[in-house]
Amino acid sequence: MRISTQLLAGIVGITLISQITFGLIVYWAVVDVEQSHLRQLLQQRTDEVTQSVAIPLATGTPASQALEQSGGHFAPSVDVLALLDGQDVIATVGPRARQIDKKTLHAGLKQTTEHSMQHVIIDGMPFLSVSRRITGLPYQLVSLQRDHTNKDNLGNRLGSRLVAFAIVIIWFAVWVALLLASVITRKLEEKNTTLRHQVTHDMLTGLPNRALLYQQLEQAITSPDDIDTKLAVLAIGINHFMEINDTLGHDLSDQLLLEMGGRISQALPEDALISRLGGDKFAVVLMNADQEFAEHHIRQLLASTDTRVPVNQIELEVGLTIGAALYPKHATTADALLRYADIALQQSRDHCVDFIFYDGGRDNHSVRRLKLGAELSNAIKRGQLTAFYQPKVSMASGAISGLEALVRWEHPEYGLIPPDEFIPLAEQTGSIRELTAWVLEESLLFLRRLHLRGVHINVAVNISTHNLRDDRLKPFIEELLQRTGIASHYLYLEVTETVMMQDIDHARNVLSSLHDLGVKISIDDFGTGFSSLAYLNRLPVDEIKVDRSFVMPMLEQHNERAIVMSIIELAHALGCSVVAEGVEDQATLELLGTMGCDIAQGYLLTRPCPVNEIERWIDDYQPKPVQREQLRLTKVPDSA
Ligand code: C2E
Ligand code: CA
Ligand code: CA
Repeated sequence: MRISTQLLAGIVGITLISQITFGLIVYWAVVDVEQSHLRQLLQQRTDEVTQSVAIPLATGTPASQALEQSGGHFAPSVDVLALLDGQDVIATVGPRARQIDKKTLHAGLKQTTEHSMQHVIIDGMPFLSVSRRITGLPYQLVSLQRDHTNKDNLGNRLGSRLVAFAIVIIWFAVWVALLLASVITRKLEEKNTTLRHQVTHDMLTGLPNRALLYQQLEQAITSPDDIDTKLAVLAIGINHFMEINDTLGHDLSDQLLLEMGGRISQALPEDALISRLGGDKFAVVLMNADQEFAEHHIRQLLASTDTRVPVNQIELEVGLTIGAALYPKHATTADALLRYADIALQQSRDHCVDFIFYDGGRDNHSVRRLKLGAELSNAIKRGQLTAFYQPKVSMASGAISGLEALVRWEHPEYGLIPPDEFIPLAEQTGSIRELTAWVLEESLLFLRRLHLRGVHINVAVNISTHNLRDDRLKPFIEELLQRTGIASHYLYLEVTETVMMQDIDHARNVLSSLHDLGVKISIDDFGTGFSSLAYLNRLPVDEIKVDRSFVMPMLEQHNERAIVMSIIELAHALGCSVVAEGVEDQATLELLGTMGCDIAQGYLLTRPCPVNEIERWIDDYQPKPVQREQLRLTKVPDSA
């Protein structure tokens, strides 16, 4: 428990000052009351003795005897009673009377006047004195009492001070204890409230989190107020958030999330429940909403967020994609509603539309996608990935030049899953980093085995956009090459054309630094990106892979053949070698040979296969060079 020390010091300070002031007042009040009581007593005693001594004196009783008789009763409470005749002290009585001789007493009493109470010093000691004339007689009575306010009476005074002080201290302690207790209780309450808030709210946006939304949604569903309750649950995703996060970093994407959270809240009705589910996902519950009402608000929300969002001097074009589920039409539990809205969001994304209402018919596929997305990271750790390899063969020599590593997922429930299904999920969920690292390590370890057996070929690994934005890729590859002892030029990184075009400057920097290591760069699926060919000479490219969509139909399609031809010429002009993908038959292989293509890859040689099969394939392989010139003279179909 951490209590603000400043606050505590302040409270203690104020308490201390007020307590000391209070203490002083109490002290002076106590001392004053005591003093005035004593004075009153002294005057009263003096009056009593004056009255009682008057009669014996008047009847001629000697002064000392008269005083002895009357003053004796009172003397114990008065230090000295003295009877003066004009100027001389003629009799004294009282506990201190004997200690002071009459001369000294006389000298000290010279200043006293009747009725007044005075401070006098007698024999060096301070006294309070009260003096009274005895009516009708030439005598004067003086009472003396030691002065309690004097420093000689320090003991007594200290005693009363200590008592006062003790009272003050106790009072003060009780006060401080009470104050501390209240401060601590308040602090604990504040802490509890903060904790409760943290548990139920998203730290970044301050919006309720999934747990709180779930609770609120359940309450809304089970509320007995309205049996006709209708609700719409929306799952909202920010488009291209992963790319923005990868490119601009966490700080800016956090700002973007904050901004979008604010915009979503503003665009919706006041009673809507808004929550951030995590990542780029928000969820909203619209109250009393049927499909029409929900659609109206979804369109409004999309319109209000379909503008540029300024984030730290950069204007980002960010749209939203929404999936919606209705209560009670689609589901009657909070759990199912949130899940269905999520599935609808995925469906909107799959179909590249702004929003979709949940549709059970479309659901099966989406459930599998969601499941795979959630399981992927664990699957990598649990060793459910496996690398298949497909050979690439040199046209000129017929020799195997290398292998392309193509990943598969051996799913315990669904069987072997092709990469096209889970690579996009890996990119969306961020596990692409682990996946690529796994493929790189696996294929370089396999390559080492081949090299040790004397098979000196290369290996190509596919790299995704997200990998290019990962600073850890280069050091990882460097370390891996070192660890396996493989020379860097045996590693090819295949990057698709579209990936590079998304951010050509960044791609150039990253690829150049990898190229500097000696690693070879290959452009994959070339020709599908509709991009300018001019950028090619700005990139450190060693190899171009003509996409199989041009290679496969080239025997029949003149256009495709022309495209393949110009890609080969362009690549050679830039000093790159050319790989034709998707070579499925001998005629295509031979046609490619006549066109000057360098390397072929495709089902004609073999489909991608697991390690043991590819090793066997390599062992059994008989190189058959493709005779270019010969072919050029014999069989080249002109057009489709
Ligand atoms: P890709 O890089 O273009 O890989 C070639 C794909 O073409 C492979 O599909 C391969 O099986 C297929 N193929 C090879 N020869 C032929 C042929 O003669 N005819 C036809 N019709 N197809 C042929 P696969 O293995 O399903 O991989 C699909 C895509 O998944 C790959 O396309 C690649 O983009 C991606 N991929 C595969 N492994 C990885 C990986 O480890 N990391 C990343 N980022 N992507 C990968
Ligand atoms: Ca590839
Ligand atoms: Ca390809």
